[in-house]
Amino acid sequence: MDFAFTDSEEQLRSQVQVFIRDNFTPEVLADFAGGKRGRGFGPGAAPIFQKIAEHGWNAIAWPKEYGGQGGSRITQFLVEEEFYRAAQIVIGGGGTGTPAVLASGTEQQKQHYVPKAIRREIIFSQGYSEPHCGTDLAGVRCRATRKSTPEGEVYVINGQKIYTTNAQVSTHIFLLVRTDPESRRHAGLSILLVPMDTPGITVRPLLTIQNEPGGPPGTTYGEERTNEVFFVDVTVPVACLLGDEGDGWAVSQRGLNLDRVGAWRYLISVKRDEDIVNWLKSDDDRAQPLKSDAAVRDKVAELWIEGQVCRLMTMRSMTLEQRGAAFSYEGAAEKVWAPEHGVRATEAIGQILGPHSQLLNGSPDNVQEGLYAHNLLSAFQSTVNHGSVQVMRDQIARRGLGMPKSRK
Ligand SMILES: Cc1cc2nc3c(=O)[nH]c(=O)nc-3n(C[C@H](O)[C@H](O)[C@H](O)COP(=O)(O)OP(=O)(O)OC[C@H]3O[C@@H](n4cnc5c(N)ncnc54)[C@H](O)[C@@H]3O)c2cc1C
Repeated sequence: MDFAFTDSEEQLRSQVQVFIRDNFTPEVLADFAGGKRGRGFGPGAAPIFQKIAEHGWNAIAWPKEYGGQGGSRITQFLVEEEFYRAAQIVIGGGGTGTPAVLASGTEQQKQHYVPKAIRREIIFSQGYSEPHCGTDLAGVRCRATRKSTPEGEVYVINGQKIYTTNAQVSTHIFLLVRTDPESRRHAGLSILLVPMDTPGITVRPLLTIQNEPGGPPGTTYGEERTNEVFFVDVTVPVACLLGDEGDGWAVSQRGLNLDRVGAWRYLISVKRDEDIVNWLKSDDDRAQPLKSDAAVRDKVAELWIEGQVCRLMTMRSMTLEQRGAAFSYEGAAEKVWAPEHGVRATEAIGQILGPHSQLLNGSPDNVQEGLYAHNLLSAFQSTVNHGSVQVMRDQIARRGLGMPKSRK
């Protein structure tokens, strides 16, 4: 087993680092941060995304016929790491939902959605959770009724989704609906790819703890809002169906699993350790006594070890994905370890910095514009969203360890 990157991979990493140094001015970083917060990217972001694409660094491991580079997953990982670390932007592929289109879509859907998603012309939001069900998605009530019309077969959608992050900037929603009204639990669900400009869709903001003041660039989970989305007689052609009708549970779970793989997923948590180590090594007066404090050194070394485990778990899932091997509980294991590491890291940083760690963006005497305070506010959400750590543990027990389903 050789964990080292090849010389050409290391050369590529250096090229990307030089690009970042030359192009990522404070103004550009602020424009990227707007996208992260849910306000949409600022004007300086588009030309940089264009330059990144011209270098061939976009969607490196994605198939050429769908707009990718047909390269290796490891090379993509390396590029993803650098861009996420520098500006919390995800350069890997088409974003949430797109891996599921590649895995479950028809040829026509792949040709239509994937290249546009890679170019950021299509952005999916994820419509799974509902007010009465988040963890237990088998309780989905949002329904889509199939009907014949003079224009052809359609689905008519009625219901509500909640916590739909980025619904306000997305072009499409990746929607889990009940297509069989008689069905119960996981059966009778389907996934529809619904354009957000379809009449009958209303998006209402749901403000988060990060809303005011907004976090500084560098905050890893800084969304200022998520959303409620309402559907009233929303009519879409049946061509919007992804996978088979009634197979939505399998399609959505496969999609969630694939969405969990990527350098940015582990860096959401691990960048916090890197930030505090860089600050401790900086010239800031407050860092001077801390950097030689034995307890502080002990703690950051411990965090670093945990961070390396996050990284290796991500790399393992990626190589499984690259080989086309089935993987399920591996993504769940990362989804437990990395977010819980993020919580431990933000709490440890709070102890290291003392009261300064709690001063938000805009407060006098804060540290790095309140970066650590904002990361602390958002640390816990990553243990809940995209599959909670409790449920991920259950998946590991069943799929990884072969244990029976638990009794209620
Ligand atoms: C900031 C943020 C962004 C989000 N973005 C999106 C999005 O874009 N799209 C989307 O569809 N959803 C999104 N969500 C919703 C998220 O997926 C749900 O919050 C999550 O699935 C938990 O569901 P819930 O909130 O209904 O909590 P519940 O399901 O009520 O769970 C509450 C707690 O009980 C635990 N629990 C529940 N059932 C079990 C069980 N069987 N065994 C053990 N423990 C259990 C859970 O782990 C959790 O800790 C987002 C959430 C947040 C906080």
